[in-house]
Amino acid sequence: MTVALILPEALRAQLAAEARAAFPAECCGLIEGQIEGEEAAAAALHPTKNLAAGPDRFEIDPAEHVRLLRALRGSGRDIIGCYHSHPNGQAEPSPRDRESAAEAGFVWLIVALTGERILVPTAFVFAGGGFRPLVLRP
Ligand SMILES: [Zn+2]
Repeated sequence: MTVALILPEALRAQLAAEARAAFPAECCGLIEGQIEGEEAAAAALHPTKNLAAGPDRFEIDPAEHVRLLRALRGSGRDIIGCYHSHPNGQAEPSPRDRESAAEAGFVWLIVALTGERILVPTAFVFAGGGFRPLVLRP
């Protein structure tokens, strides 16, 4: 079971930039990487369109999801999770996130921000019907 997410500094900076650009809406995207043993390692963040209508929600375009899956086929890497921002400053999965989570083992990376101020990102893995916090390290 995954206990840690490795997120290199460059990707952390990309996440912060996307969250700022989307504010006050939520940014979202897919995490490309590998899971080895207890560690998930992010190799790239792929921003996707946010199909959700409301400012406080996100919905990843399924077409972009499929496109990325195809692109990664045979590369040894996979879509290991998703990321999105919380413009309300909450660093935890929202009740809506809990409703939309379905895939066991999927990593959820959340970056909360309040206005221009980016808070420390948090990561979770969806397992056993709930979110478990992951250690986040560069
Ligand atoms: Zn959320």
